[in-house]
Amino acid sequence: MTPEKQSLFAEHAYLPDGWRRNVLLEWDADGTLTAVTPDTAEIPADVQKAAGPILPGMPNLHSHAFQRAMAGLTEYRAASGNGATDNFWSWRDLMYRFAARITPEGLASVAQWLYIEMLKAGYTSVCEFHYVHHTPEGKRYTNQAELAQRVVDAASAAGIGMTMLPVLYQYSGFGARAPRDDQRRFINTPESLHELLAALRAARPENAALRYGVAPHSLRAVSEQSLRALLDGLDRSAPVHIHIAEQTAEVDACIETEGARPVQWLLDRFDVDGRWCLVHATHVDANETLALAKSGAVAGLCLTTEANLGDGIFPAHEYLDAQGRIGVGSDSHIGVDWRAELRLLEYGQRLTRRQRNVLASAHTPYVADRLFDAALEGGARATGRATGALQAGHRADWLVLDPDHASIAGHAPNNWLSGVVFCEHGETPIRDVYAGGDKLVENRRHRDEEGAYARYRIALAELLK
Ligand SMILES: [Zn+2]
Repeated sequence: MTPEKQSLFAEHAYLPDGWRRNVLLEWDADGTLTAVTPDTAEIPADVQKAAGPILPGMPNLHSHAFQRAMAGLTEYRAASGNGATDNFWSWRDLMYRFAARITPEGLASVAQWLYIEMLKAGYTSVCEFHYVHHTPEGKRYTNQAELAQRVVDAASAAGIGMTMLPVLYQYSGFGARAPRDDQRRFINTPESLHELLAALRAARPENAALRYGVAPHSLRAVSEQSLRALLDGLDRSAPVHIHIAEQTAEVDACIETEGARPVQWLLDRFDVDGRWCLVHATHVDANETLALAKSGAVAGLCLTTEANLGDGIFPAHEYLDAQGRIGVGSDSHIGVDWRAELRLLEYGQRLTRRQRNVLASAHTPYVADRLFDAALEGGARATGRATGALQAGHRADWLVLDPDHASIAGHAPNNWLSGVVFCEHGETPIRDVYAGGDKLVENRRHRDEEGAYARYRIALAELLK
C-alpha cells in the first residue's frame, strides 16, 4: 500500500538555487513533489533520512532501446581493401541487420534491462526515439503499435519516466528517394504514423510518467510536405525530436538537393522553438550555432555515441555562450551514464583547444555544475514532462549519492558535482535512485535486476543465434 503522502529528509540537496541544508522533500501518491523545504529546523520524527546528498534525476533525451543489444559487437574493422575505413554508414548496415531480427518479446526484454541500467546510472526519464514499427517482412502487426507499446510497458515495469516518440521514416535520402529494402520495418506515411500514435494513446493513455511526441527521423527521411503533415496533426505542446546534422555526408547532400545546410533549412521553414530537440546538431556553422541557440530548441548531445561513431565535435563553447540549450542522451547505448556524457562534452573541447575548464562561465566557474544544470533544464524540456528540478509540481525524481565514495568523500559541497562528473574511481557514487517517488534503486541494485537481466540474456542469445 502506498501511503497518501510520503517524505524524505536530506542533510544536503541540490535545489534550483544550489546546494541547500536540511531539506524536507514531500510528495503525493501520484509521484509529484508537493513541497521542498530547505533549512528545516529539526527532522520530523516519522521521516526517513536519505543516505547521502541528493541530486535531481537526469533526463536521457535520446535512446534507441534495441541498439543496447549490439553494444560492443561492432568494434572491429569490417571494411576490406587497401585504405578501407569504417564509418557511421558501415555501422548503420550492421545496425539494420540487428533491427531486422528483433521480436516483440526480445525488444521488451532488451528495453526493460536497458531502462534498469539507466535508472542505476541516475537517468530517471528517457525519450525513446522509436523507429522499428513493423514485422520483419515490413507488414503491420495486428496491433500496429505492438512494438512501441512493448517499449512503453518496459519503461513502466522498470519505473523510468518515458517520452515515447514514434518515428516517421518515409524515404531513404534527400529528394524523397524510395526506402531501401532493409528499412522496411521502419517505413510510414504521416497518416499511418498518426494512426499508430492514436492506437498507442488509446492502449496506454498519457499520465504523469508517460508523454507522447513525434520524431521525424531526419531531413533525409522526410520531405518538407510530410514533415508539415506530421506536425499539423499534433498537439502544439507535444515534443518534436529530429536527427539533424550528425554526418558531413548528410550536410553535403542537403546542400546539394535543398540548397541549404540542415539546421539552417529547418530554421528557415519551420517554427522551431522550445518544444523541439535537434539531436546531433554536430555539424553547424557559426551562423547556425547562434540561430539554433536563439530558437530556444534543445541541442541533443550524445557524446559517447558521437565519439563511438566518429561523428565529430559540436561547437559547445560558442553555443553555450549564446545561451543555447543542451541535454544529453545515451543514444546507441555504448555507454549508459550521464556523467560520462558531460565529461566527454568538456574533454572534446579541452583536446581540440588545448585548454582546461572550457565550458565554465563567469557566472558558473565549476564546469560540472554548469553542464549539469544545463543538461537538467534542457533534458527536462526535451521530455515535455515536469522533471529535472527538486521543486513542488515536479516529479519526485532524484538520486542519493554515497557520501563515503572516494570521488566526493572529505570534499566540501561546492566540489561534489566535479567529483561525480570528472572522477572515475571504481563503482558509481550513485547509491539510491527514486523516480516518481518510488525507491527503485537501493544501494546500487534495482528492485527487479535479477529477473530482468536473465530475460535480457535470453533475448540476446536469440538475437545472436
Ligand atoms: Zn539516434
